[in-house]
Amino acid sequence: MSEANPEMALTADGKAHHRGTETQRHRGRKKISQETERKQKANQIELFQKANGSKPRILALSIPLSSPPCLYQIGPFSVPLCLCASVVILFHFTPARRFKRGSRPKPGPSPAYNPFRHILPVLMKYRVCKVFEVESGHMLSKHPGRCRFPHGHSRRIEVVVSSDALDANDMVCDFKALKLAIHSIADRFDHAMALNSADLQRAQFEAGRVVIFDGQDPTTEVIAKHLYDQLAALVRAGGAFQADGLTYHLPTTLSVERVRVGETSSTWAEYGQ
Ligand SMILES: [Zn+2]
Repeated sequence: MSEANPEMALTADGKAHHRGTETQRHRGRKKISQETERKQKANQIELFQKANGSKPRILALSIPLSSPPCLYQIGPFSVPLCLCASVVILFHFTPARRFKRGSRPKPGPSPAYNPFRHILPVLMKYRVCKVFEVESGHMLSKHPGRCRFPHGHSRRIEVVVSSDALDANDMVCDFKALKLAIHSIADRFDHAMALNSADLQRAQFEAGRVVIFDGQDPTTEVIAKHLYDQLAALVRAGGAFQADGLTYHLPTTLSVERVRVGETSSTWAEYGQ
């Protein structure tokens, strides 16, 4: 009676065939296992894409080595270093369509990735800006340094107003109306000294052009808020201005978004919504 050969097996029709060596069978099982694992991962990514519309992508994986406190020699210095083990995995979610080779993104916003798509039309506005420039002096009585002494700035004043809809002339506001409105409130700062009503140096300037702020230093921030409040009041009142034989109105539907006042070429202050 011959001993059964473990590397031989019978097929369904009773014929013998070679099963391969144990190493070959192990490799086969490993290959099947890897294939199954690959399919499972592909299924998970597909499910994730369906649920989130994007594909997770590992951007960075860093595993700093752990080491006890020790000294590293850097040039003539000994530097103590202590690294804590950490694993940082960053996921970047990008629209799935960008991963499809050869496919171009469709034009326009993708509704799938814009959670505010239903309210955006309500938030959209028309905005216009008018710039005005004045040469303005001021003194800051509370400032510990040089700013408490009389000095001046070439101020650039930017006013931004907005509206949800255009008027009968397809405008937010006639720029001429805005110019006249800003001029009426900002012109008094031109070649004038702005100061705090409590400033001890006030008396020597009162004979000239002055703009007095009640108990406040006329900082650029304070001037920006002052101009904002003045313009907002004009808009609420539906201000009308005469120029070139015409009357220009500020629409009461106008919203004053912000007033920005420059102090130097690199600094400004803003007040607004
Ligand atoms: Zn100043």
